[in-house]
Amino acid sequence: MPASTLIIGAGGVGNVVAHKCAQVPEVFGPITLASRTVSKCDRIAADVKAATGVEIEAAAVDADNIGETADLIRRTGAKVVINVALPYQDLSIMEACLQAGAHYLDTANYEPLEDAKFEYKWQWAYQDRFREAGLTALLGSGFDPGVTNVFCAYAQKHFFDEVHYIDILDANAGDHGYPFATNFNPEINIREITARGRYWDRGEWLETDPLSWSMKFDFPEIGERKVFLLYHEELESLCRNMNGLKRIRFWMTFSDNYLNHLKVLENVGMTAIKPVPFQDQLVVPLQFLRSVLPDPASLGPRTKGKTNIGCVIEGVKDGKAARHYLYNICDHEECYREVKSQAISYTTGVPAMIGARMILEGHWLEPGVWNMEQRDPDPFMQALNEHGLPWQHEPLDPAKPMPHR
Ligand code: NDP
Repeated sequence: MPASTLIIGAGGVGNVVAHKCAQVPEVFGPITLASRTVSKCDRIAADVKAATGVEIEAAAVDADNIGETADLIRRTGAKVVINVALPYQDLSIMEACLQAGAHYLDTANYEPLEDAKFEYKWQWAYQDRFREAGLTALLGSGFDPGVTNVFCAYAQKHFFDEVHYIDILDANAGDHGYPFATNFNPEINIREITARGRYWDRGEWLETDPLSWSMKFDFPEIGERKVFLLYHEELESLCRNMNGLKRIRFWMTFSDNYLNHLKVLENVGMTAIKPVPFQDQLVVPLQFLRSVLPDPASLGPRTKGKTNIGCVIEGVKDGKAARHYLYNICDHEECYREVKSQAISYTTGVPAMIGARMILEGHWLEPGVWNMEQRDPDPFMQALNEHGLPWQHEPLDPAKPMPHR
């Protein structure tokens, strides 16, 4: 019996989640898509109707307002809320789910607006309240975090007795033809990239200057690319939940063109998040920058090329060293043909739908607050193959480990 579903956020990712939920009417329905700007929901609902024949209700909500969001959950009878608004709304939507009695899922961990510092502690603090309410909250059900966490759990379950080293590698070889644009919300994206690099090594967090450490990696179907070490949110939960782990790092590709633009924007102060006075008002430079950059949702029809995101995992099996690579390749143009979106929104929105499916079908229904690697990876891995994100597995030569510093 399909379950009433509320999607909050009608950006690039919300568009994909709406399409993908509508493709699985035996699990999701009726579906409501709500956001601050209802016209964005209307546009997506019209596209979903044209593509799938499924009617989606559009609604306006300010998800910073707990009471308003809880009322919407009650009115729609939503059993699950898929939060693909911005990380700033995570806590208010979790509160609203507790008030109205709905399961919760998001793709990015909470970050206070005034401080570019994302951490799970605020959301982990809801563990007892969700458990006592008999509700499930699933954190970070996008690609990275999300699928990358599930890849690690799957490798631990099937390929290793102990996992020692994890390197998460994210390549986007897509070309959108703009001099500078970000593939998801520019404000969130630039806050993440301009932060100091950080990785976990034998129980300690080690820091690097932003984008100061790079190496070459040969990505299947993309080729050799320079990847840069970044701090990324799944490191925080994986270093706790993977038994025997010694080190975990995250790497992402950036073109020289992207980095040059970013450097200039930083140098002139346009990436700052503290308000500055401008013509009798206060303006946050990064928020202003976001308003003049291309909307990520508009990149879909222009972007060509592929993404490859995966995990190289090293450890021990039957007393011998072992290395495995799990990854997904996604083609921007194919995504656009299917759901009118580029691959970054697609690779985030599909796992969000699958995470909600895991809750509604009972595979991952357990009261409490969970990161993805804490659930059984098998049904999720199977669903990736069914819903447009097929994964590949390559055993690697254990004699050629990833470079240590
Ligand atoms: P967009 O900026 O395109 O869309 C965000 C949407 O949220 C907009 O429709 C916006 O509405 C809405 N919104 C913002 N504030 C509120 C509010 N207070 N109440 C209701 N709606 C609100 O972002 P994306 O779609 O690119 O990204 C969505 C989320 O996905 C982000 O949290 C991002 O960090 C995450 N993400 C996760 C990834 C992963 O792999 N895990 C990868 C990429 C993204 P309006 O336009 O009216 O303001």
